[in-house]
Order: sequence, then C-alpha cells, then structure tokens
Amino acid sequence: MTSIAGKEPSTWEAKFPLIRELVAYQETAWFNPGIRSGKAALTGLGLTVADIDDAAARLRRFAPYIAQVFPETRLSAGIIESPLYAAPFMQAAIERREDIRIPGKLWVKMDAELPISGSIKARGGIYEVLHHAEWVALDAGLITRDSDYRELDSPEARELFAEHSIAVGSTGNLGLSIGIMSARLGFNVTVHMSADARPWKKEMLRRHGVEVAEYESDYSVAVAAGRKQARSDPSMHFVDDENSTTLFLGYAVAGRRLAGQLQAFDIPVDEKHPLFVYLPCGVGGGPGGITFGLKTVFGDAVHPVFAEPTHSPSMLLGVRTGLHDGVCVQDFGIDNVTAADGLAVGRPSGFVGRSLEHAIDGYYTVSDENLYRYLTLLRETEGLKVEPSAVAGFLGPQRVLDDAAYLKRTKLTSKVLANATHLVWATGGSMVPPDEMNDYFRKGVELLLEF
Ligand SMILES: *Cc1c(COP(=O)(O)O)cnc(C)c1O
Repeated sequence: MTSIAGKEPSTWEAKFPLIRELVAYQETAWFNPGIRSGKAALTGLGLTVADIDDAAARLRRFAPYIAQVFPETRLSAGIIESPLYAAPFMQAAIERREDIRIPGKLWVKMDAELPISGSIKARGGIYEVLHHAEWVALDAGLITRDSDYRELDSPEARELFAEHSIAVGSTGNLGLSIGIMSARLGFNVTVHMSADARPWKKEMLRRHGVEVAEYESDYSVAVAAGRKQARSDPSMHFVDDENSTTLFLGYAVAGRRLAGQLQAFDIPVDEKHPLFVYLPCGVGGGPGGITFGLKTVFGDAVHPVFAEPTHSPSMLLGVRTGLHDGVCVQDFGIDNVTAADGLAVGRPSGFVGRSLEHAIDGYYTVSDENLYRYLTLLRETEGLKVEPSAVAGFLGPQRVLDDAAYLKRTKLTSKVLANATHLVWATGGSMVPPDEMNDYFRKGVELLLEF
C-alpha cells in the first residue's frame, strides 16, 4: 500500500485505532468531540441563509413549469417535496430486535417518494439543472426572472437548450435526476455511470433520451471522465457532485421545509426537545446540504448524524483523520463494494467534510446485511418500500444511546432524551423495479431468520 499524506497506513492506524475497525468492516461509530455550538458550527462554509432563500425562490419560479411538465407534481403545485411519516411500529420492532428502549419518537422522512426521480437526488440534482437552465435562458433573453417559467416548455426554449450540454458522473441516482430533468428541458445530457450502477437505471435514462457512458470502474473514474469531457467543450456544464455549492443549496432547502412539516405535526424542536436526524452519506453533498439547512433553522437543537456502509466509510475516515478528500477508503484496502446505491463512494467531498465537521454530531457504519434486515422490517411494520441505502439511518438511535460520553458532553440527559424526535431520512427507492424490490425484501427475510 502507498503512503497517505506522507505516512504509512500503519502509522495512521496507530494514531486512529478506529481505522482498524473500518478496515475489518466492523460496524462502528464515532461522535465528534470537536462539534461547536451556535454560529461557530458553520464557520468556514461561506454560505448563508440568504443563499438558501435564493435557492428556495428559484424553485418557486420554476414550480409552474415543473407542475406542467411533470404531472405527478401537479397536486403539490410543482414543488418537489416528500412526506414525513410517524414510524411507531418500526420503532417497536427495532426495540424488540435490539433489546433496547428508544426514548422519544421515531419518524421517517420519505425521500424515496420524491417525485420525478424517487430519491434525495431529486433535491440537489434537479435544482442544479434548473439553476443552469435559468442562467442559459436569462442570458439568451428568452425570459426574465418575472416571466411565467412555463414559457420554457416551448420549441424555442428546447432549441436553445439543445445548443447546450450537461454531464455528470454517477453511481445511479444522481444520474437519474440530472438526466431526466436535463432531457425534459431539451439539453444534450451525458451521464457517466460507474460499474455498480444498476442496469434498470441505465435503461430508464436511455428511454428518456439521455446519453449513458458506462465504465468498468467505480464512481471516481466515472466522475473524472465526465469532468474531462466537459473541459474540452465550453458549452457543456459539468455537475460536480463533490464540490458544487449549487447542488448543496438545493439540498439545503429541505431544512426549512422540514421545519414546516414538524410544525404541522406539532412537534417541538428546542433545547428540551432535541431533533436527531440520521442521514445516509455518500459523497456528502446531500446530507451536508440538509445539515446546513437544518442548522440555520434549529441551531444546537438539531443533531445530524451521518450513516455509511461498512465497505464505504469515506466521510468518517476523512473527518476522523482530518485528511478529508486527501484520503480514500481504498488507501486502507477497504473495497468500496456495497449494495447501497448512492453510498458506494470511496473519497468524500472535501468541501462538505471541512466546512461541516463542527456541525455533524457523529458518524457510524452499517453492514449490507443490516441494510437488508432493516429494509424488510420497515416494509413489514410500516408498509414502506425503500432501497437498501435508505434504511442506513435506522441504526442511528442505538448508536446515539450507546455513547454515554457524547450524551454527557452534549447535555442530553434521559429527561431531555424522553422528548427526542428521531428522524430517519429514507433517501430513495420508489423507482426500483418491483422484482428487484422483492429480491431485497427476501434477502432481508432470510437474514432476519439467521439473526
Ligand atoms: C446519493 C444518495 C445518498 C447520499 O448523498 P450524497 O450527496 O452522495 O452524500 C443517500 N441515499 C441515496 C439513496 C442516494 O442516492
């Protein structure tokens, strides 16, 4: 193995024994003693509430267009949002299975049901395409910010967009969002897909008229290919999953929308009523953007916790070592092979890790076997169908309760925990073909019988 930032892997392992657990593919957790309260949690981000306002306003300008071209969004007036569900039976099932009691209440934020592309990527991915489309249309004088954006559903607009291209590298879900939205507007769009991308995702994109380039390697190679293609073509916009603040702000809008949903269900969030949010993490932009959005609304009362597969613990590794995007899981011989679509990312976003490390309470890893088990439990108890990555958050409450030092540090006493809301972000699944969904379910049934 090569040296990492000038040191041998064994030196890093001696300094951070947690790495040994990651290398052994053990489920583990780490709660960061370096988190900060108040505004200090977000220093270094360089983005403010005004940036989220701007993103929310852009999504409102596009809403009439979205409602027109995607009829499934008509009843939400073109606003792409997911429901919030109570999950009392799932909570009881976890308590029985793990022989624990989870104080507070379990809720599920069902991004699996987001319209258009069925995953959390319908937030950031679609937002970035709309952002680019607006820029192109304004620049060409086709619209002003006061126009009715339904004008973009016209032959003139499609002709304009056809002169522009968009490219992205993806393990699947980001490709679906960018591809479907770009093709609908009329852009030339290429999705560079890694080897682990499911065939049905490639087929669906091709049906929408998207160019799909396939690679035999993992996500980072697909991304590099996309970036290279865009560099040689000035009319091509490359969606940079690792560094794009546009994507990030599209996700951040979710924070204030969730605040409204919690209010509608009369769920208080304050010092005495903590909100834990369990977020599956791939490259980090989705969970990071949502963390930013939530922090601007709830401050110290919200406790973001990131979940990663045991085979792709890139954010945990990057933040724990302080190397961020200067290290990838493969540097330590970790294979980055997992059933969790969207989470098979070996190198984290340096931007997210660096700017949010003081805002994310903790990180933990989940085995693929447990993803299947929890997927099956969720369907059996609540009737909710999601993909494996989307259940990573359900192990969160146990990890929080396990860490007495963390609870003490953050003054989360049992009295306060009794009022907690545990919100699991269920990030994807409604586009998964039924046969494949049933295979996931059956795998979980078998694994639940074993243990
Ligand atoms: C992409 C994705 C995530 C994580 O988002 P990142 O921005 O890559 O961290 C989580 N769940 C699903 C289903 C995804 O597709």
